[in-house]
Amino acid sequence: MGRLFSLLGLSEDSCLICGGEIAHLEQGYVCEGCLMEIKPYHPFNYEKLGLISRYRVYGRYESTLAEVIRLIKFRSVKPLAYTLGERISGHLGDFLEEAKPDILTYVPVHSWRLWSRGFDHNRVLLEGAGVKYDSLLLRRKHSKPLAYYEREKRFVTVKDAFGVRKELADRVEGKKILVFDDVLTTGATSTTICELLLSLGAEDVFFYFLAKEG
Ligand SMILES: [Zn+2]
Repeated sequence: MGRLFSLLGLSEDSCLICGGEIAHLEQGYVCEGCLMEIKPYHPFNYEKLGLISRYRVYGRYESTLAEVIRLIKFRSVKPLAYTLGERISGHLGDFLEEAKPDILTYVPVHSWRLWSRGFDHNRVLLEGAGVKYDSLLLRRKHSKPLAYYEREKRFVTVKDAFGVRKELADRVEGKKILVFDDVLTTGATSTTICELLLSLGAEDVFFYFLAKEG
């Protein structure tokens, strides 16, 4: 932890977002004040997203929420994923109550990214939220992060990028599946995963996103 802080040019008792003092170092990275700023955003305009039956978004991809997501994904601050998971648990729990999925799962990271980051952030977020999940999905092939592709090409590049774990494939048929993902951008990833699950016989596919861009 000390090394990370020195890499970021901060002292060990500074908040990674505002630089302010952290009173107690239980989760150790973001102060209570900044954490309190992470709140569900309402109302979202829920436009139709491919064949996805229903979806929910926790907040906008901006300010503190965006900063925390960036620290988790690009600076590999794992404890923050757990803390953010705790923060969204009530909101996610309400949607689980409403959608009543048979399976809750998440969009996994690429294996090379898992190796470099050391953890699958969506999975840690669900652990922080204290919900039961299954690791149903896998990435089929390595490709550059989506951000490197032009928007209109994304639908092509994500096609066939995902699969369902062989040993769990027979659990999809007739099931309602809720997929957790971090950021909703173009909807390319989520609509591709939805099509995959429907093609395997899923009855319904729902999504829950941590944040929405734009
Ligand atoms: Zn702060």
